[in-house]
Amino acid sequence: MVISIGNNYDLEAKAEGYGFKWKVHADIKRKNPLTNEILDINVGMVDGPYCKNDYRKMKESRTYFGRYKYKCPKCGYKRTLLKNCWTLECEIEDDIEAKYRWTEANS
Ligand SMILES: [Zn+2]
Repeated sequence: MVISIGNNYDLEAKAEGYGFKWKVHADIKRKNPLTNEILDINVGMVDGPYCKNDYRKMKESRTYFGRYKYKCPKCGYKRTLLKNCWTLECEIEDDIEAKYRWTEANS
């Protein structure tokens, strides 16, 4: 059975990390009732990695020595990382959630 998750997240954010662009879908966990400022979010889905030049989806391939090569099919932009796509997505997710936490701590 295929369960498709629609676009039912509260917000969509663009992020940058590891030399790529990412699209982040998240739900708002808490808002400031006075200013409507978002205080805490829960990231539900991360799309990417996308090329930083033209937003094409990067192609991942495994190389020897346990590295992962990412290449843009359009402009040829390349990066070799030790982390696979899935790990990168998790780190971007952590990053985004941490940023909102940081904002809250400083407000
Ligand atoms: Zn490209």
